[in-house]
Amino acid sequence: AERALEIDYVFKIVVVGDSAVGKTQLLGRFTKDEFCFDSKSTIGVEFQTRTITLNRKRIKAQIWDTAGQERYRAVTSAYYRGALGAMLVYDITNRQTFDHVARWVEELRAHADNSIVVMLIGNKADLAARRAVSTEDAMEFAEEQGLFFSEASALSGENVESAFLRILEEIYGVV
Ligand code: GDP
Ligand code: MG
Repeated sequence: AERALEIDYVFKIVVVGDSAVGKTQLLGRFTKDEFCFDSKSTIGVEFQTRTITLNRKRIKAQIWDTAGQERYRAVTSAYYRGALGAMLVYDITNRQTFDHVARWVEELRAHADNSIVVMLIGNKADLAARRAVSTEDAMEFAEEQGLFFSEASALSGENVESAFLRILEEIYGVV
């Protein structure tokens, strides 16, 4: 029982992307398996955690939320400090949020460590009927920029677990 309390590694992961793309709900889905329909835009909470086991090591994922600082360049460099992974989120029904992904990549390159593992997430995959960004466009961008890529839905839970686990496994492989 004592062993279960021991943590071998803490991996800091930051979630970035435009306002209202679903960052907070993705985090809630992964850490608590919940989706909150009447969530207000994020206030206060700095990060949430979930501990998983990889290769018999206990890894605490400490996942940071932007807390409403999504305006261009409002996220401070302190937010990125020590981050080993980043989830860069856009909304597949909102073209502008995808057009801004390049800016977020720039922000990551400017403020985060060079070796940061970045996963591009097209969220709200449950709303594919209102899609404004093709999977192919996003895949091509991700490939050019050397990012991992997945579409996902915080609402249905589709691909959320696998996306976070992919980042954690990738980090684990490089630390
Ligand atoms: P944030 O500003 O990026 O943190 O976005 P939120 O997590 O607060 O979500 C913004 C809005 O999008 C809220 O109304 C959520 O209910 C909604 N939302 C978030 N994720 C999904 C999703 O996967 N599917 C759908 N249909 N709506 C979502
Ligand atoms: Mg939020």
